[in-house]
Amino acid sequence: MIPQPDPGHTSCARTPERVHAQHDGELAPELRAELDAHLAECVRCARAAAAERRFLARLRTVAAAGMGASRAPASLRIRAMAMLRVIA
Ligand SMILES: [Zn+2]
Repeated sequence: MIPQPDPGHTSCARTPERVHAQHDGELAPELRAELDAHLAECVRCARAAAAERRFLARLRTVAAAGMGASRAPASLRIRAMAMLRVIA
């Protein structure tokens, strides 16, 4: 869901969805400015946003590594396809 403008009011409750949207590049510039202003004055949300960003960055690293590891070596794929042909 793409957050909608909520002029002049970035509440703590809306901050997590905006942090997610910002991370995904889906946060409108005016909301980004509101979010940044809120994070500058709200220590609790700033800490949560920093933790969220670290978590999402780690998740992307793990996902990227997992995608690389999920590819079987060519020799294994060739043998597996040969076995499937024998079975079929
Ligand atoms: Zn807050």
